[in-house]
Parts: sequence; C-alpha cells; structure tokens
Amino acid sequence: MYDLLIKNARLADGTQQDIAITHGIISAVGNIDDEATQRIDLKGRHFVSAGWIDGHTHCYPNSPIYHDQPDAIGVTGGVTTVVDAGSAGTDDIDDFATLAAQCQTNVRALLNISRIGLLRQNELADRRDIDAERNRAAIAKYADFIVGIKARMSGSVVGENGLTPLEDAKLLQYQCQHIPLMVHVGNAPPTLDEIVEKLGAGDILTHCFNGKPNRILTPEGELRDAVKAAIARGMTLDIGHGSASFSFEVAELAIARGILPDTISSDIYCKNRLNGPVYGLAHLMSMFLTLGLSHQAIIERVTTNVAKALKLNNKGTLAVGQDADLTLYDLESAEVTFTDTEGCSKQGQQRFTPLAAIVGGKLIVTEKGQDANVFNA
Ligand SMILES: [Zn+2]
Repeated sequence: MYDLLIKNARLADGTQQDIAITHGIISAVGNIDDEATQRIDLKGRHFVSAGWIDGHTHCYPNSPIYHDQPDAIGVTGGVTTVVDAGSAGTDDIDDFATLAAQCQTNVRALLNISRIGLLRQNELADRRDIDAERNRAAIAKYADFIVGIKARMSGSVVGENGLTPLEDAKLLQYQCQHIPLMVHVGNAPPTLDEIVEKLGAGDILTHCFNGKPNRILTPEGELRDAVKAAIARGMTLDIGHGSASFSFEVAELAIARGILPDTISSDIYCKNRLNGPVYGLAHLMSMFLTLGLSHQAIIERVTTNVAKALKLNNKGTLAVGQDADLTLYDLESAEVTFTDTEGCSKQGQQRFTPLAAIVGGKLIVTEKGQDANVFNA
C-alpha cells in the first residue's frame, strides 16, 4: 500500500511512467497498479520531473537587503528546494535555520564566509569578518542545512582585500570535506581570470552569463582561456540571473559555441520576483527554450545537475530510494516576454507552468494547478 501513486506521468524524455511514494521516499517507478491512499492520474497529459531545485536564491526573511519568503520562491512556483546563496553568515545562521525548518519548501544554505552575511554590500571588505573557526563550527552544526559556502568576489564586496577572501574560502572548503563553493563574479578587481585560476572541481561560478566587462568571453567572443581551463578542472557554470547578471548577448554567443550552463538558477529575491526580470525559476526555464535548449536539457539543469553540483545526494532524480520531491507541470503555448539585465528583450512562444510541488511526499498544488482540474479526483 503506497501513500501516493501518480499514474501516467509524462517525463521530459517523452516516456510515460507511474511513480509511487511511501514515507516520503520514491518507492517504485514503472508500471504500477497497487493500492495507494492517494492516487493522481495525469492521463499522459501532464509532466513530472524530479523536484526543481533553485541553486541560487536569497530567501533569508530577516536579511536587510536581499530577502524573501522561501515558500514564495519555492513551492508556490513548483520549486521543491531553494538554496540561499550567502544571505546569512554565522551571525544569523541560527535564526535562518529556525525559520527554514518551518517552511513547506526544502530550504538549504550556502554559508557566506563573512560572518555578517549580506548585511551590507561589502561583506568581505573587513577580513576580521571572515572567522574560520566560527565557519567550521556552523558547518559542523548544520550538516544538513548548510550545503556549501559562498564568496562574492567583486571589487565592491572585497574592497582592498583582492583575492584573499577567495583563498580563505578555498582553505575552508578543504578543511570541510570539500564542501561545494559558489563564487560570484561581478566588477573587477579581481579579474575573472584571477578568480577562476583558483577554481576547479566542487566550485560553482555563478552569474556565468553576466554582461559586465568581467564576462566569460573575450572581446572577440571566444571563451576565455582561464575559464576553459577551470571548466576542464571541474568548475561548473551557474546562471544566477538576478537583477544585474544576465546578458542575452553573452548567453547567445556562449550557447552558439557549445558553452552551456550546468545549472539554471534565479538569484531571486522579493524585488526581482515581484517586479521582474526574474519572476520565478519557471520563467527563466522558459527563457532557455527561446535560447535553444531542449525541454529535457532544461529540466536536467534544475534537477540532476544542480543536485550533483551541490551534493544533494538524495535529490535530483526520479529513482527508487530518492526523496519524494517532484514537480508536476505543463509545457504550454503562450506569448512570453523575457528581459535580460542589459535592457534587451526576447519573445517566446512556450512556457513551463508548474501545477504542483511534492515535497517529501506531501502534495502542494499551485494556483495554476488548482485551475487545471487535475487534483480533485
Ligand atoms: Zn545572489
């Protein structure tokens, strides 16, 4: 007897499957006809994937600048796991962990290596705020909640400290079982070349398609050699669209050269969620359809790939034994406008519409899902 049985789900690869859930875990996948407490028949008309994971968000509600409610950027939009990227350092991590535990969405954090988190815009300008001992203690205390660390490496953040905060981050990573490190690139100094020379396996470069001078492409439009070398060492590329870090020009040139992002994330917080240009993870996933990525390639970048990059070992695939985190969605025809952060717009003809999130086996239907008449059997 299963807790929940989803019948006739379409997968992004075109196949059709049944998925059964017991005690918050995926307990069977295939052709299933056993009894279940709750049964949802998608009749081959609606899609299911592993739960969408947004690997770069800002959802510590008490953060002064970049804040949001985890459920507003999570299950409301079909996203089952949100990863906050450094809004909190050790000063606030207890408070954030307490609030996160009360959400329907899975909330995880990348600990800002500065104890003050995003209290101000220059959290790495005073090296005394990088307290290795406190960082190690927090990472040990919150082994499930803290999934990695975050260092924002732009001139306005690091001040006179140059590359030293990144060296501190790399040492911390080494001391903490090679925990994932997400590095933000913005305006130089330091230059992108100097940053990525220190990065490799286990490191994530976010804002990878930013349109600032510190971009991944040379003025001739080729991938910078230092970035190429870091990718060869295992560094991954993350979108982190946000309010200032995504350029269609860079994205189109990169994709034309076969340089695809490994993960699609939003860098969302309340303002760019409500006023754009981000709106939500689904909106950015739809944007990548217009940039030529396939439905399946996009789903991989918010499930398997991000789970791998952030070592979320029980998430990201629809396999027996994995956490029962799933997203139910439609891919529908619609005229949609997408805007980058450089003032350019694009029209699309299709969009991902989340109908429900299932988190640890619990069904949470979105507003669109309520209208879709799927869940009131
Ligand atoms: Zn961010």
